[in-house]
Amino acid sequence: MTDSVVIVGGGLGASRLAENLRGNEFAAPITIISAEAHPPYDRPPLSKSTLTDAADRVDLKPSEFYTDAGIELRLSSRVVAVDTAARHVTVETGGQRSEVPYGTLVLATGLSPRRFPGEGADLSGVHVIRTFDDAVALREDVDGVRTAVVIGAGFIGCEAAASLTKLGLTVTVVEPAQTPLAGALGPVIGGFVARLHTEAGVNLRTGVGVTRLCGTDGRVSAVELDDGTVLDADLVVVGIGGYPDLTYLEGSGIELADRSTGGGIACDHLGHTSAPGVFAIGDAANWADAHGRRHRVEHWNHTVEQAVTVAAEIEEHALPAPTVPYFWSDQYDLKVQLLGAPRPDDQVHVVDDDGRKFLAYYSRDGLLTGVVGAGRVGKLMKTRPHLLTETPIAELLDAQ
Ligand SMILES: Cc1cc2nc3c(=O)[nH]c(=O)nc-3n(C[C@H](O)[C@H](O)[C@H](O)COP(=O)(O)OP(=O)(O)OC[C@H]3O[C@@H](n4cnc5c(N)ncnc54)[C@H](O)[C@@H]3O)c2cc1C
Repeated sequence: MTDSVVIVGGGLGASRLAENLRGNEFAAPITIISAEAHPPYDRPPLSKSTLTDAADRVDLKPSEFYTDAGIELRLSSRVVAVDTAARHVTVETGGQRSEVPYGTLVLATGLSPRRFPGEGADLSGVHVIRTFDDAVALREDVDGVRTAVVIGAGFIGCEAAASLTKLGLTVTVVEPAQTPLAGALGPVIGGFVARLHTEAGVNLRTGVGVTRLCGTDGRVSAVELDDGTVLDADLVVVGIGGYPDLTYLEGSGIELADRSTGGGIACDHLGHTSAPGVFAIGDAANWADAHGRRHRVEHWNHTVEQAVTVAAEIEEHALPAPTVPYFWSDQYDLKVQLLGAPRPDDQVHVVDDDGRKFLAYYSRDGLLTGVVGAGRVGKLMKTRPHLLTETPIAELLDAQ
């Protein structure tokens, strides 16, 4: 067994891994090295209640947990290099560099938000939502503002639109695809999600891109679209996804995954990277599945499950049973949930649609691949056992 665990990153993956290790009575030193000044906190509220209800209690654990559990938290400290031969990481804290040795290293560095790539990206009033500080900056900027433009209708863009609408702003969402969430859920379900937003009064502009952000006195005032439209914008939220910033791994020899599979740190199905004693979990990790296919997944539950698996690997315990992938998103008063791992081009079978709430199955080659629902929590969760086995879609449709 290893003599020490160093975790790079201070988010969900890092916190859960440390917690799992200590929960299993792992006694060796554990150090979490985080670039952020805050102890590990939860990100899902940042686009929801942190904006709408000023919910600031987002810590994953009370601060005394780390002291009581003997977990060293090094905050405001960025890992800038990894030496897998010498087994140490180089840490930069307040301009000073030091080396921290490791027995086992776990990389849990999450994502950096993509910034708007064109003119106007640096104007004030242009926001992203990845960190607690981002969310607070956005919330504070809403005061006295009337119009907002959200660029991108992925999950975070959709949630930001719902939250800003709830705060009384007039919101326009601009999305180059034909529907919101088309890349994740496909156009049929994307159309249902579009319905939620237009009903709530959001001006949804799909099939069109943003050319530039225009400013007045250094602050954003308008957004120009590629069809020539100019939208008033007192505030802009850029929700165009994130990328794993892995510059700290340059020269480490740790293998990265091909971009076509989502990029990130290449891992086997148990989280081992190409370097001995080095694991990766969470949004930055690209694990192989049981069939050897690679996926980089940006879901809360996925990170939690990877932390359980890697803790078991480090401690040489039996592995937990496989579970069903799960994701949720809160938009307006509805919980949108996804079980399984459907592809956006899978066949969609809508089994319940009251004009707002809905439930639909996805299938491929006649087998159930996923279930998506909005406001149908109980019904959706009941389908979970069917995703643990190979279930013919006809069986489920016949039972309707
Ligand atoms: C606004 C928002 C809303 C979300 N809502 C949902 C939701 O509703 N449902 C859902 O399933 N998922 C949601 N997610 C996704 C979920 O939060 C992530 O999947 C999860 O946080 C991933 O955990 P992680 O540990 O991989 O990364 P993170 O939680 O991002 O933590 C990574 C940490 O590593 C630090 N770091 C990076 N590089 C270095 C370095 N070189 N040295 C030291 N530290 C470093 C970062 O500063 C950060 O603190 C949301 C995410 C966001 C941003």
